[in-house]
Amino acid sequence: MPDIHPRANGERVLADLNALRALGSYKTGVHKPTFSEPHKQSLDWLVRKLPEAGLTGAIDGIGNIVGTSTKLGPKLLAGSHLESQNYAGWLDGPLGVVYAIEAARVLNTDSSMKGAVEVAAWCDEEGHFGNFLGSRSYVGQVTEAEIDAARDRTSGRAMRDALTDMGLAGRARITAEPGRHVGYLEAHIEQGDTLESGKLAIGVVTSIVGIWQYRITFTGEQNHAGTTRMAVRKDAGLALAKFCVAIDERFPAACGPRTVWTTGRITLDPGAPSIIPGGAEMLFQIRDDDPAVIARLEELLRTMAVEASAKGPCTVKVEKIRTGAPAMMNAGIQDAIEGASKVLAGGRSIRMPSGAGHDAQMLATIMPAGMLFVPSIGGISHHWTENTADVDIVTGAQVFVDACRRILCSSAM
Ligand SMILES: [Zn+2]
Repeated sequence: MPDIHPRANGERVLADLNALRALGSYKTGVHKPTFSEPHKQSLDWLVRKLPEAGLTGAIDGIGNIVGTSTKLGPKLLAGSHLESQNYAGWLDGPLGVVYAIEAARVLNTDSSMKGAVEVAAWCDEEGHFGNFLGSRSYVGQVTEAEIDAARDRTSGRAMRDALTDMGLAGRARITAEPGRHVGYLEAHIEQGDTLESGKLAIGVVTSIVGIWQYRITFTGEQNHAGTTRMAVRKDAGLALAKFCVAIDERFPAACGPRTVWTTGRITLDPGAPSIIPGGAEMLFQIRDDDPAVIARLEELLRTMAVEASAKGPCTVKVEKIRTGAPAMMNAGIQDAIEGASKVLAGGRSIRMPSGAGHDAQMLATIMPAGMLFVPSIGGISHHWTENTADVDIVTGAQVFVDACRRILCSSAM
């Protein structure tokens, strides 16, 4: 059967991505922190592009753009972010925005299509000033006080000052209109090597993992590193090291198939070469998309702390400092992406969770949400060498546009 559906224009997608790469370019990547000049230029670029897709929109009071359509019928929201990490890759963010504008150009201008794709660029997904400020603002979770307090983590610049410099001070913030959208779809580079190693083209995201973080503190006795006999030491640093090893030995029996855990920071008190540490602290993180797995691992962590304290010579305390619920992606949207992959990517797709956080997890709190991944060469991201083969970028765009079409068509019935 001939493919009669409207298709993405691969050359136009690549041209748009390269136009965005030219704004704030750094080696083969970009340096485009939130509210920097190249970020502002990228936002202005998107506002100028919106009319090509029959959309109108402007930058709102927190730096978000939501281009809206007056077309009748169901509306699908699609997008991602335009700022980057410092000195990082060109596709993390812009890929999802360009796919969204391409879907809108192809589908909104097709008179046989009911409904429209609306395009969003969420500000500060990369967390220069906070934690998903743009998408959280849209879903109604950001207070003015939070903006008052926000500062650039690199320069210390106040967010209020940055908004003033951008000409956005006093501008209203756009918030979601209940019932307006049938769902939200976001494309992103995988930032891992699952697709590349499996020779696959498309990742159909099933969930975005939750992140749980713990502070584990060890209390011993500070003393002289030369005169204190080994037998009587209470070395908190050594207790921490043993605990780290024990986690790696005991977690595998209790974890899920894709659980990951990390000790991201260790501090010794006082941290001097000639002093036995009297205190030690580790920041420990667990990621999984199944709260039951996390609950099991947390229970194990606490049991291990009790056991270690009982055995001595140091005491161990576990304190939970962050809980992030996983976000489940909508089943119908997953089916739409998979169906499009069968036709346009030879079925080279896999259902997989996202180990990284994305704006879609915020949108998922108020509407059905889904995500599509394309391969990352070498699994590299958050680095200027981040890249995806042109052929994979184009295949991803084809699948994305067709997935949008399928979602709108099933909603219009
Ligand atoms: Zn991103």
